[in-house]
Amino acid sequence: MMSITTKYDLCSNCYDRLFKIKKNLVSARNIIRLSLSNPNGICYICKNIFKNLECYVDKIFEVAKYYEFSTFSIGLIIKPSMIDRDDDIRSKFKLIGTYGLKYNLNREISKLFSRKIKSKADISPDLVITLDFRKNVLLTRSKTIYIYGKYVKKSRSIQQKQIVCITCNGTGCKLCNYTGISESNSIGGKIIKLLHNNFISTAIKINYVGGEDKSSLVLGNGRPFFAKIINPKIRNTALPKLDDKKMKIHDLHIIKHMPSKIAFKSKVKIKILTEKIIHCDDLNILSSLKSIKFYGVDNNENVKIIHSLDWKLLTNTTFYILMIVDGGFPIKKFINDNSITPNLSYLIQNTCKCINYDYYEITMML
Ligand SMILES: [Zn+2]
Ligand SMILES: [Zn+2]
Repeated sequence: MMSITTKYDLCSNCYDRLFKIKKNLVSARNIIRLSLSNPNGICYICKNIFKNLECYVDKIFEVAKYYEFSTFSIGLIIKPSMIDRDDDIRSKFKLIGTYGLKYNLNREISKLFSRKIKSKADISPDLVITLDFRKNVLLTRSKTIYIYGKYVKKSRSIQQKQIVCITCNGTGCKLCNYTGISESNSIGGKIIKLLHNNFISTAIKINYVGGEDKSSLVLGNGRPFFAKIINPKIRNTALPKLDDKKMKIHDLHIIKHMPSKIAFKSKVKIKILTEKIIHCDDLNILSSLKSIKFYGVDNNENVKIIHSLDWKLLTNTTFYILMIVDGGFPIKKFINDNSITPNLSYLIQNTCKCINYDYYEITMML
């Protein structure tokens, strides 16, 4: 057997972790000195890090107190030199079946923190706290909250999407007050502001179930959307509502995760102006229209179904169409764009222009 002449001081934590197993204890007897016998000794592996655990737990508490959470997990980044020394001892003494230093340290810190705040460590926690011993910093990250909701757009002068903050490109920074957007005068901006005020998050991302023109109204129950609330400080809050002259945000609730693909149908009313005088009979051809076809950017053929279609003549050059179509139906292009087969102008042999179009109902098909 290899003889080891160097003596190592190990703290009781490191000693117990490595030599608790009988076989290990036999191989190490007379070689490792417990620092119990030498209270001023410094542990070769951890440099007495276990003596300072209360202090680390206090630091964690100082950052965690700003978050609302019922479960947590702690992550550690420890100095490579510490891991090297741990490995060194383990290989020198041919130790088997022992826990690593990081595992042990994490378990002890988690235990103390859990006792202090009376909440539990969990594998899918509300709050993740990373203690970085290399850089001597603490990082916190709370679990993302997903929200489903709807908006009604009552104004022809607000747009759906918000301009992202140019400083952080939407990730959230001090300049945009951690909203990721430059102002809050759009639908998206108002949703973000409303949610940010409730959840105090780092950034919010919204996925809309379809979109509309700035001049379009979205009536009925409104358009559904999904919001991803990143790093929220507040978790348990009454979900907000907004109802003003221009818009309404309502029907919000928390969901488990964002759906990856959303199919939907839209009921839309399009007001159309024709170049030449139009008669009621000219529009009869529309009753045979069941779908349209067009090519996407990747040259894939897209077919969108028209589930129902009605029309009404308003004057001798204006009429409206009320139809239920598949989500993603290119409404403005359908009026007069040659990339759509067939388009309305071609069908009725009269050049048409879209005055405006409004949504009456958007139905998700989950
Ligand atoms: Zn130690
Ligand atoms: Zn920003």
